[in-house]
Amino acid sequence: MQPPTRRFLATVVALALALLPALAFSPAALAREPPIAYGFPPPPLHGVVIALDPGHNGGNAAHASEIAKLVWIGTMWKPCNKVGTTTPSGYTEHAFTFDVAKRLKADLEALGATVYMTRTTDTGVGPCIDVRGRFGASVFAAIEVSIHGDGAASSAHGFFVMKPGLVRGWTDDIYDSSARLATAMRDGLVAGGLSIANYYATDGLKTRTDLGTLNWSNVPVVEIEMGNMKNAGDAARMASTTGRAKYAAGLVLGIRRYMGK
Ligand code: ZN
Repeated sequence: MQPPTRRFLATVVALALALLPALAFSPAALAREPPIAYGFPPPPLHGVVIALDPGHNGGNAAHASEIAKLVWIGTMWKPCNKVGTTTPSGYTEHAFTFDVAKRLKADLEALGATVYMTRTTDTGVGPCIDVRGRFGASVFAAIEVSIHGDGAASSAHGFFVMKPGLVRGWTDDIYDSSARLATAMRDGLVAGGLSIANYYATDGLKTRTDLGTLNWSNVPVVEIEMGNMKNAGDAARMASTTGRAKYAAGLVLGIRRYMGK
């Protein structure tokens, strides 16, 4: 048998070299490779769990005795829940908080976050403020954001963020981080074009030791009065879909600011 010619050997070597790159893309090689090496970084809030608490509930008004039941909040006894306020034309706080929370949930999920809400309908009763406060830790959330609307004098307008004060044995673990969260949420809402309250709070921030949702939390928590439903300008914004989308967008900016993402 004739030995292979030089030309034949050269062809075999060239073919082997040409096939080498294909080996790098074999199923086994692809399985080893982390996705980020292919230029698809995860979305900014990937892996972040967030708890949202839309204040009040649509069924509360019809269950007065149930929501009046007192619960201990570390500093005092408070009603389990309340009906909430309304705009002069009757748009309710519970509808407002639920809609803003749903919009915020969708916005955060689009950024990769996992979001849980203390209530998933606007027709139920409660839950009580102690349950709302414990909710964040129960779903292993990084933070909990409680959404409300205020019912103050008609001249008062703008949002403010309430953070837990130091209550020994209750908020020791979350009071520093909650203060940082409150500042980030305030700054995010301002960046989103929303105005700081012209009443009650200082620079849009207020410390409270009498709120069950804050005292019971074991994750950084804030409760935000997004606007005053008794003020004509705030009420118009709160009752409109574009206004509620603007509130949700501002809350996203605040959450991203706190997360550094
Ligand atoms: Zn409220």
